[in-house]
Amino acid sequence: MPMDKVCSQCSASFEITDDDLAFYKEIAPVFNGKQFPIPSPMQCPACRLQRRLLFRNERKLYKRNSGISRKPMVTMFAPDNPYKTCSQEEWFSDTWDPMAYGKECNFSHPFFDQLRALNLAVPHPGLNNTNVENSEYTNYALNQKNCYLIFGAADNEDCLYGKFVIFSKNTTDCLSVYSCEWCSEGVASQQCYGCHYFLNCHNCSDCFMIEDCSGCKNCIMCFGLRQREYCILNKQLTREEFLSQKAALYPLTSQKIGRMQQQLNELQKNLPHIGSHIYASEDCTGDAIYNSKGCKECFDINHCEDCHCTAFTPNGVSSYDSTYSAPDGVQWCNNVTCTIGHRCLGTYMCWYTNDVYYSINCRQCDFCFGCVGLRNKKYCIFNRQYTKEDYEVLAGRIAEKMTAAGEWGHFLPPDLSHFAYNETIAQEYFPLTREQALALRFRWRPEDAILPDAKKTIPGEQLPDTIGNIPDDILHWAIICSATKKPFRITKPELDFYRRMELPVPRLHPDERHRLRLAKKKPYRLWNRTCAKCQKPIATSFAPDRPEIVYCETCYLSEVY
Ligand SMILES: [Zn+2]
Ligand SMILES: [Zn+2]
Repeated sequence: MPMDKVCSQCSASFEITDDDLAFYKEIAPVFNGKQFPIPSPMQCPACRLQRRLLFRNERKLYKRNSGISRKPMVTMFAPDNPYKTCSQEEWFSDTWDPMAYGKECNFSHPFFDQLRALNLAVPHPGLNNTNVENSEYTNYALNQKNCYLIFGAADNEDCLYGKFVIFSKNTTDCLSVYSCEWCSEGVASQQCYGCHYFLNCHNCSDCFMIEDCSGCKNCIMCFGLRQREYCILNKQLTREEFLSQKAALYPLTSQKIGRMQQQLNELQKNLPHIGSHIYASEDCTGDAIYNSKGCKECFDINHCEDCHCTAFTPNGVSSYDSTYSAPDGVQWCNNVTCTIGHRCLGTYMCWYTNDVYYSINCRQCDFCFGCVGLRNKKYCIFNRQYTKEDYEVLAGRIAEKMTAAGEWGHFLPPDLSHFAYNETIAQEYFPLTREQALALRFRWRPEDAILPDAKKTIPGEQLPDTIGNIPDDILHWAIICSATKKPFRITKPELDFYRRMELPVPRLHPDERHRLRLAKKKPYRLWNRTCAKCQKPIATSFAPDRPEIVYCETCYLSEVY
């Protein structure tokens, strides 16, 4: 029987379906011949997502010395962070032994107190990058060449200032884009070329300021178009008309771009929006879903099957509450983040791990419980080696104790995160004030003041308007962000990009530009609404009080084609 539940954090109601209960039954681990049932969640899907995201600091990077070699390094651990850290090379080397931190399980102490102590004692890698070349200031990145300030990204070359950028080249300032080239300010889009300021677009080229378009070429300020060329504000023009109106927009300035955005906003007010952006998929709910099947309440997923409440995940199979798995994916996992593996539960940063529970930063491990920083191990508990038989008995006793304490089956408690709430991406998707974060017992860290280090400082609003008037000397200036007053620099590859694309130099700090792109993406939660045309019920990430006209997929497609 489906159950209605009330979230223990935000009091929202949410439903546990029969499918959910069947899943929890199916994945419940067996130790020493006894199955330990997974209870249904206590928080709503959004609060669960928030609790997983607060384990991941992508973009707050600091200078600090390694806890092993004392060498200076760039790391996501602030100098005042109580956790130990070292460079990735040191972490993967044999100069230290995580098993030296091993402890016997103490059944008179709570499980998480013991895991907390181990988490504080064992060093953690300062960054999480794999195969990155000439790409300083990247984190959670895989296969990057010549990239700068790129986070949570894979397989890119010459990309600057981006998050969740995949298979792309020569893009700057993008969020959640796949296979884009020579683009900037793109959000939630795929296969675009030479496009700037675009949202929810596919297979478009040489377009500027477009949303919900696919297969378009040479369009400016358009919304919801399919396979069109030479349109401005959704009006079909001749090639000559288009070129002369486009020429009148150049040279571009930040003010002109702002006015173009306003015109596009005005235009789309009266046009229908699709309730969810789901492509080449079957029986899915959520947003930004590609090539997936049977996935519910999922966001930013690709090639997933039967996943629920999963986000930022490629190649997930039958997993619930998973975030940020890499291309090798997750299978039969529950309540995991930054994890790749099979049948894992309550893990953070565990890669190529199978049957691993409540563990942090483990690699290539099987059958481990409550471990931190292990590599190539089997049958370990609190970083101590056991025989298979002893492991089974002990793991069963711990699961039983955790069940009695109401901890078993849920995610890691927030205070096991290595970072303050506002250092992590939870703050990007679920922004809180300091007071709100502290009230939820999340940690908070005051922002460091950044002093400009440059021979000249210039307020963003005093930058020359057009790219043609920007001197090479700008590379030596500190620009003061027009919105946040934070200083920032322009790099040579960036300046070359703006010149080639005839774009003005930004007046806002990269963090502020990132924040504005995040605001263009809808929230990572679903509401029940009805289609504005046929009144069919739909689950959509357009909140009920939003002004847009929202259609179901069938009504939307009959309108745009
Ligand atoms: Zn909630
Ligand atoms: Zn409809």
